[in-house]
Amino acid sequence: MTAQQPKAAPCPICGKPAHPRYRPFCSRRCADVDLGHWFSGQYRVPSTEIPSEMDEKYTRRVDPDDEVG
Ligand SMILES: [Zn+2]
Repeated sequence: MTAQQPKAAPCPICGKPAHPRYRPFCSRRCADVDLGHWFSGQYRVPSTEIPSEMDEKYTRRVDPDDEVG
């Protein structure tokens, strides 16, 4: 009988057997990778969209050819 754990969840990053110290990852590196995914997903800086204050409501220009019949 081997003293293996019944359910050793593999590292979600690379698939290697998880290390008890870095569960559920196999190493700190993979843990950092996962953390990086979290940061990139949660704390993603929204694109700085500057609201255009230049409304076109004042840019209504009359067509010079509007009287062309
Ligand atoms: Zn890993």
